[in-house]
Amino acid sequence: MDNCIFCKIVNGEIPSRIIYEDEHVIAFHDINPIAPIHILLIPRLHISSFNDILPENKELMGHMAWVSKEIAKQNKIDEKGYRIVFNCGEHGGQEVYHLHAHILGGRLLGGLVKR
Ligand code: 5GP
Ligand code: ZN
Repeated sequence: MDNCIFCKIVNGEIPSRIIYEDEHVIAFHDINPIAPIHILLIPRLHISSFNDILPENKELMGHMAWVSKEIAKQNKIDEKGYRIVFNCGEHGGQEVYHLHAHILGGRLLGGLVKR
């Protein structure tokens, strides 16, 4: 996808602090963290938002859930707890239109609002 910042991260055109990658997904540190642990997990495939998930993406979504859990464990936030967030659309506060999960932890997270 042209002009998609996360596709550029997937293609290595923009540097990022990658912590995990496999054939389907990449995880890297958020550039503007709102918690001690703030990792973004994205599919290599360009899917614009949660609204654009197709039936054929169901396995990928399950993989993202699994990898999120493993990343939480690897970053030692599994025991105290953490939050997985997908912002969708304007009211959801989505800024980057390439599907991503925020993996947030390392502090007590208040309310449900992002910032
Ligand atoms: P959204 O608001 O779309 O759910 O979240 C987008 C997230 O991407 C924000 O938390 C923002 O800080 C992060 N972000 C935006 N551009 C970049 C970038 O170039 N590199 C990294 N690592 N994170 C980014
Ligand atoms: Zn993209």
